[in-house]
Amino acid sequence: MAAASQIGLAGLAVMGQNLALNIAEKGFPISVYNRTSTKVDETIDRAKSEGDLPLFGHYTPRDFVLSIERPRSIIILVKAGSPVDQTIQSLSSFMEPGDTIIDGGNEWYQNTERRLSDAHSNGLLYLGMGVSGGEDGARFGPSLMPGGDYAAYENVEKILKKVAAQVDDGPCVTYIGEGGSGNFVKMVHNGIEYGDMQLISEAYDVLKNVGGLSNDELAGIFDEWNRSELESFLVEITADIFKVKDDLAEGGLVDKILDKTGMKGTGKWTVQQAAELSVAAPTIAASLDCRYLSGLKDERENAAKILEAAGMKDEVHAVRAGVDKKRLIDDVRQALYASKICSYAQGMNLLRAKSAEKGWDLNLGELARIWKGGCIIRAVFLDRIKQAYQRNPNLASLVVDPEFAKEMVQRQAAWRRVVGLAVSAGISTPGMCASLAYFDTYRRARLPANLVQAQRDYFGAHTYERVDRPGAYHTEWSKLA
Ligand code: NAP
Repeated sequence: MAAASQIGLAGLAVMGQNLALNIAEKGFPISVYNRTSTKVDETIDRAKSEGDLPLFGHYTPRDFVLSIERPRSIIILVKAGSPVDQTIQSLSSFMEPGDTIIDGGNEWYQNTERRLSDAHSNGLLYLGMGVSGGEDGARFGPSLMPGGDYAAYENVEKILKKVAAQVDDGPCVTYIGEGGSGNFVKMVHNGIEYGDMQLISEAYDVLKNVGGLSNDELAGIFDEWNRSELESFLVEITADIFKVKDDLAEGGLVDKILDKTGMKGTGKWTVQQAAELSVAAPTIAASLDCRYLSGLKDERENAAKILEAAGMKDEVHAVRAGVDKKRLIDDVRQALYASKICSYAQGMNLLRAKSAEKGWDLNLGELARIWKGGCIIRAVFLDRIKQAYQRNPNLASLVVDPEFAKEMVQRQAAWRRVVGLAVSAGISTPGMCASLAYFDTYRRARLPANLVQAQRDYFGAHTYERVDRPGAYHTEWSKLA
């Protein structure tokens, strides 16, 4: 059979099927393959019904690989981890030097670096490409984060630029950097996504429980926020969620959903990497902790009973009675925005630290740009982040960009009021509190770390530096006390 397809895609679950249809729809003939053949049939049927798209199904790795024009580029979209290794193994025996493997899964970046070096030893090129935007993004325009061999990127650049989401300043794809940088950037994107979702859920909690707002009112407020500085995909879908009625019982569907959060691991990796690199990421860590605590539903129900029996009082009603609803809504909007800036500052600083460690030379402004469309954290606000890094590529933190600094200062009174009210009402806002504490710690020229140093020197003779003269000092504290 003559090779006809310009690209191939193996792995036809949610992401693969939709990305393959997207590529075909943009006019690039594509070959597809899946370990289980029914998904190949399903994809062929969809290609027919969605506009007779140039998509060709194959049922063996050999037929699939040989149907693609050389140098071949094959995207793999299977479960991360060993399925990727198995898929590479089954395909690579038919691939030839100069061909490229592109793993589009949420892969651990070191796995990509290992596979990249294996690929090189077989004369193949390799890209680890973060793909964000879920099912709809894959079908109609994702944000793509390809990293690895630049020559491999050049081979598919034209296709990726057409397939990616399009925003005012170009397609949401760029060559990220060498090695596993594409997967690492996608991982941090997901960590930031955890932070955004946590902060939005806290805004909901405060407005619902302290403000006493109904689901209809919440829908209206999130719709309004989506026309403000908070305009973003997550705020938009949150407004929609509040509008959906339960079809099995009375009331809103959101109220019937069990309060236990699922997760797949990229948030945990982000927090682990932040710790490895000594980068503070308290908002993202708080969002991860909240997912863990949410999982302890039975324990939480038990704790509520035991603490109530021990005399714990619900303070929400007392706090609610004194609240000006209109002002609370406006304050929560400001607190959400300021908290978000701190969360993004943490994610960006983690990316910068990893870039320095690995020599990836990440362009933070460009990363903010490719997240403006297609992905889950897409938001108008990302254009401001892009501009901040364009103004100063060496910006120490978003918090000290002159524009963001002004915005944070303008919002800090509202932010403190929201956190204060939530604390008095016993409504936990770990993300907003973590962001505020991050801001207050980062902006203070002098911290109580002097006392920590004194303690370390007292029990461990770790020495300390002085503020008024150079050198390392040790004091026999117990003898002088
Ligand atoms: P998935 O549920 O993660 O994986 C299912 C696919 O993996 C199927 O094609 C399955 O083939 C294949 N597979 C599993 N084990 C295999 C093995 N041992 N050998 C060969 N193939 C194997 O699919 P997905 O949700 O579409 O996600 C694909 C990748 O994209 C994942 O890395 C995921 O984390 C990432 N991602 C997903 C989303 C999302 O919204 N779903 C968003 C961004 C990124 P069979 O049909 O033969 O079982």
